[in-house]
Amino acid sequence: MVDVETKLPEVFQLQKQQQYVVKMTSAEERIDKLQKLKAEILAQAPAIIEALQQDLDKPAFEAASSEILSVMSEIDYYAENLKQWMEPVEVPSRSKGAQTKIISEPKGQCLIYSAWNYPFMLLFLPLVPALGAGNVCILKPSEMAPATSAISTKIIQKVFDESEVAVFEGGVDVATALLELPFNHIFFTGSTHVGREIMQAAGKHLASVTLELGGKCPVIIDEQVDLEKIVPRIVFGKYMNSGQICLAPDHVYVKENQQEEFARLVGEYIQRNYFENGKLTKEDLSKIVNERNLQRLKGLLEDAVSKGATVRYGGEIEDGRIYPTVLTDVLPDAKIMQEEIFGPILPILTYTDLDEVIEQINARPKPLGLYIFSEDQRVVDNVLSKTSSGGVAVNDVIRHMLEPNLPFGGVNESGIGRYTGIFGFKEFSHERGVLYQAPVGTNPLETFAHAPYKGKLEM
Ligand code: NAD
Repeated sequence: MVDVETKLPEVFQLQKQQQYVVKMTSAEERIDKLQKLKAEILAQAPAIIEALQQDLDKPAFEAASSEILSVMSEIDYYAENLKQWMEPVEVPSRSKGAQTKIISEPKGQCLIYSAWNYPFMLLFLPLVPALGAGNVCILKPSEMAPATSAISTKIIQKVFDESEVAVFEGGVDVATALLELPFNHIFFTGSTHVGREIMQAAGKHLASVTLELGGKCPVIIDEQVDLEKIVPRIVFGKYMNSGQICLAPDHVYVKENQQEEFARLVGEYIQRNYFENGKLTKEDLSKIVNERNLQRLKGLLEDAVSKGATVRYGGEIEDGRIYPTVLTDVLPDAKIMQEEIFGPILPILTYTDLDEVIEQINARPKPLGLYIFSEDQRVVDNVLSKTSSGGVAVNDVIRHMLEPNLPFGGVNESGIGRYTGIFGFKEFSHERGVLYQAPVGTNPLETFAHAPYKGKLEM
């Protein structure tokens, strides 16, 4: 066990000294560092998958694709583009003979917190832009995924000297001890509730923050769409990682007369994909992270049923898992509609007019993701113009996060700031404006603004 009280200030001080050395590194040196990280991730891939199975029973396929490959492809993207992003940008000057440019400099000392649902990806994905932008970093993995925290620490310690990247494992005590230090930037992934505390703590040192938070991501289904075709996309997004995804479709709005058909199609698709001979294929469904969350989800389900909802599919609990569950006739005042579900329960709500749906969405905090299934551009435009959310996917869910040229992040209660691709590079950089003034004497109007001012206003 690391003695956080003495070790933390010591490492922070080391990084403080090292930050200007790291700042001076070239694109090639930074890419080289990222490639070393990639090689070590690849070498440790079986151990990472094993750790994710220990923590979440995460299917190996999901662990490999969404946790490991996503980080490796972000490193590849940085290797292709970093040099260009680091170039100073020349901009026109308003002063005669002067030159102006914007240079991207690292923010300096950064702190990165990960959440437990994608405990590997959420620690390493922000590390890529942090290093690309030339920062030194301290990482705080999620204590709720201890095996992944341990393997992540091993990888970091193998690749980096602690004066550049260090890890501090632990729970809330470590998380709050870190917040006492005057970091330049804090990148936090987690709940909206803790995000507020992070922002408050950052205020003490006026550190900038990126907050990647949660919320309720709604799905709107226009009555014209072919339900059979879209159901696979919704089921995939809802039940992957047992719904423990910040961008998972939280609930679905369908036209009143389509609820029955939609629920039936979702149920049939669940049967085909998650069951074999009537038995749940557990290797395709992660477990709920811990007993507390399992009980929370059970409570949401019971409350919804007590308020008139019907469990159309699933509802059973077995071996730390909740069967993929579908609820119909869910009323907006049920608890399940008041908080982020973060589990494999899909409430279906009905509408008669799309404006009601827009009203309900706008009555809640702005979501991280909003999903619209429609072939009618006027419907899409109407929803886009009357709502706000971190990001949007039309005729799909979640996949907008995988687009390297789109910013990923929330808005207000679903988050502040953005990352992936160039947006991450900018998030971890300070855009510093630099003026190169023309030599003294080359601009005859230069001294016009100097005192004495007498008579100048009349000129
Ligand atoms: P959490 O807020 O409980 O914990 C996140 C991190 O904060 C952990 O490292 C934890 O140790 C630390 N922490 C906990 N209490 C703290 C405190 N008082 N002060 C400082 N740090 C503290 O979140 P979680 O349960 O790990 O993750 C689930 C939430 O994260 C969901 O709301 C989900 O939507 C959100 N999430 C968002 C994204 C995104 O990219 N926007 C991705 C994944 C998860």
